[in-house]
Parts: sequence; structure tokens; C-alpha cells
Amino acid sequence: MRATDGPPPPPALRLAVPAKVNLALHVLGRRESGYHELQSLVAFAAVTDGDEVTVRFSPPDRERSDDRPPRTPDFVVGGPFAGSVPHGAENLAVAAARLCPEIAAVHLTKGLPVAAGIGGGSADAAAVLRAAAIHRGIAASDFAADGLSLGADIPVCLDGRPSIMEGIGEVLRPAELPPVAGILVNPGVPLATADVFRALRKRDNPPFEMPPLADAGALCDWLAGTRNDLEAPARACCPDIDAVLNAVAATEGCALARMSGSGPTVFGLFPDAAARDAAVARLASAAPSRWWIRAVRFSGSADGLPPAVEM
Ligand code: ATP
Repeated sequence: MRATDGPPPPPALRLAVPAKVNLALHVLGRRESGYHELQSLVAFAAVTDGDEVTVRFSPPDRERSDDRPPRTPDFVVGGPFAGSVPHGAENLAVAAARLCPEIAAVHLTKGLPVAAGIGGGSADAAAVLRAAAIHRGIAASDFAADGLSLGADIPVCLDGRPSIMEGIGEVLRPAELPPVAGILVNPGVPLATADVFRALRKRDNPPFEMPPLADAGALCDWLAGTRNDLEAPARACCPDIDAVLNAVAATEGCALARMSGSGPTVFGLFPDAAARDAAVARLASAAPSRWWIRAVRFSGSADGLPPAVEM
């Protein structure tokens, strides 16, 4: 199973699951298959009390061979949003684990809101596959094709670095991005991606071209000329988004407020961490209690992925 000789692999790995945020998302067309042709600038942010995945592997002498039918690993979900996700084989973390016969068990802590436009299930599935890749001593990108069959966002989540994503999620180019301080705000209601695409009217929007961006200020200036083409249909489906967008945009120092993915989570970008922290404090004191509000830092291209912890 392992690609390299060397010390035995650890029996378990714990990975923090970053939130995936679409800083820009343009809908360019629709394929005959019904899938939409997208172009998106994707960034990742570590979230305090977000999702976490722990993967336990079978002892090497009890690893199953690939030619037996996939077995569902033991699966436990905890965390504040555990009640909003499937607890069985329909959970994307489990679906990913079923691709890897060496995985005996998965523990998922669900701290990110569900059906929120910030990766969620795709990010969890990618974390499971990244753990398997570390265990096998192979590149995570070796799972990109299998991952794509489970969800369009899984290849970019497997990569974990700022990227320009095209096609239906299968074409990835690294994007040179500076780190930037931000916030994520979710109105506390789920929004199904399929409903948003059904409400989408204009499907032939122009693409973006990204110039070199020296710093966070240049990134925000350039982003102001881009869009999230799913924002209008998502607002039509979920009026709560308007209140969040308005509140984030009105916060002192906010350089850009926009919805991520198919929503309803909104991100705000700030010139520095101090302005961001002040914005979080102000929003938290004024917002309805069901809003989920987090200060984040979007990783730049020079940042590495958060390391997996051996257990
Ligand atoms: P995206 O940003 O990729 O559009 P999302 O954040 O909008 O994703 P998810 O949180 O992935 O959406 O939830 C979409 C659906 O997937 C929900 O109905 C949920 O029940 C299901 N699902 C399956 N597994 C998971 C998981 N591990 N975490 C969250 N949702 C999951």
C-alpha cells in the first residue's frame, strides 16, 4: 500500500480542516451535462473551533486489499454542527474514506456551519484523502480524480493553496496571493447549492484575469472589479444574506464584503488584523445571536498547509 520504505506510518492522523472561500466566482456557461462552467479564485482560512478530522488506520497486517468491496469505516461525528450532517455513508468524509481500504475509522468534529458555501463536506472529504495520502507516502493530488467524482470542490481542497479553479473544478492553477485579514459571517440558516443554481438566470458572464498582486490592498482593489455571480440568486433564495452583507460592508475598515460559493456565508476583507478584530467585536455585540462570526486570516501562497498531527 505504501509508496516508500521507511519508518512505519503513524496509527492515526489529525488534520484541521480549513474553510474554503471563493474570493471571486464567475459563472461562464453551462455544459450539456448540466454542470456549470465556473472560474473562481479560491483561498483557505484556518477557523478557530472549525472542522477537524481524525483518521485511524488499520494495522499494516490487517490492511484490506483493494480488490475487496469497500467497507464503511467506523464513523463518529461531534461538535456544534454534528446534528446537521449525515452520520452514515452519505457523509462525504465517509465516502472519501471508502476509497481507502486502509482507513479503519474517522472522527469528524463539525465546527463549520453546514450548507454554508465554505467547503464543508468537500473540505472534510479532502482532509480524509490527505491523511490517506500521507499514510501511503504519495501526493494528495493523486486523489484529485477520485475526489472530483465525490464533489467539484474536493480537488482544490486537496491542494489547499490559493488557486484559480476552472472548468467544473478539475482545472487548477496556483494563484500568487498575499495573506489577508478577514472575517466570515454566516446568518445561521442553511442554503442548498442546487437551489441557488436553479435560481441563476445569467449563465454567460465574462471571466476575470488576475494581475500580479503585491499586497492585501492590491488584492482588495482588484477583487472589487470581480464578482460572485451566485450572490444574486442566493439572495433571492435566502433574504438573510442581505442583512449580513450590509452589516459586514458597513463595518469600519471593511475593504470588501462578498458572499462565498453558493452562500449564505459572507466574507469581509480588512487592511490588517487590528481592524479585523475591531470589526468582529462590533459585529458580535450587535448581530443576532444565531449569526456565526469568526476572525480569520486567508493564507497567502507562501504559507504551507497546516501540518497533520500524528497520534
Ligand atoms: P460548497 O461550499 O462546496 O458549496 P457547502 O458549504 O455549501 O459546500 P456543505 O456544508 O458541504 O455545503 O453541505 C452540503 C450538503 O452536504 C448538506 O446537505 C450536508 O448534509 C451534506 N454533507 C455530507 N457530508 C457532509 C460533511 N462532512 N459536512 C457538511 N455537509 C455534509
